Amino acid sequence: MGKKTRKYSITTDLTQIQTKPKRSDFSLPPEWWDRSEGIKLPILALKEDVEATIVISKVGKRFEVRGSFTTVLQLQCDRCLEPFASPLDLEFSLILERLPQEVEAEEEYELAPEEMGVDFIRGDEVELTDMIKEQIYLSLPMKALCRESCLGLCVSCGANLNKDRCDCKATTGHPAFQKLRSLHL
Ligand SMILES: [Zn+2]
Ligand SMILES: [Zn+2]
Repeated sequence: MGKKTRKYSITTDLTQIQTKPKRSDFSLPPEWWDRSEGIKLPILALKEDVEATIVISKVGKRFEVRGSFTTVLQLQCDRCLEPFASPLDLEFSLILERLPQEVEAEEEYELAPEEMGVDFIRGDEVELTDMIKEQIYLSLPMKALCRESCLGLCVSCGANLNKDRCDCKATTGHPAFQKLRSLHL
């Protein structure tokens, strides 16, 4: 991540949080989502604004983050390649801790096992939009399907079998055998 100017940036200065938790309510327009960052992901676009609330409290030397947000993702179905809307309504929590001063300059910081689950940060400012972005990535299913029963595309003619019945010969067996058969013709 470079230091390019961000069009959408919502930061919280952790040094400002003492006894009172800091609450941030914000919304991000669909343009906030930059597709170029994740070409291989199934997210085509955001269909609605992100409406988010993030509350950060100080707990000892750490910071506890509790957030929730809603939006609607436009995903691409893995089987039929059609776009479909996928509403999100998520809650998340994180623990943040500033990296010890002496290791702040190091690129990689080895975590002790008891430190797993803690996000170490550099500097006093946290970028709230990055938290939302990370949660959106984490919410993605292994396989994005427009519906469980999606029939996908015909392996011979590419017709979307959810919409059309193609005239390809009804074939039985694995698509690989079918291909083999066509090679022998
Ligand atoms: Zn589909
Ligand atoms: Zn077909």
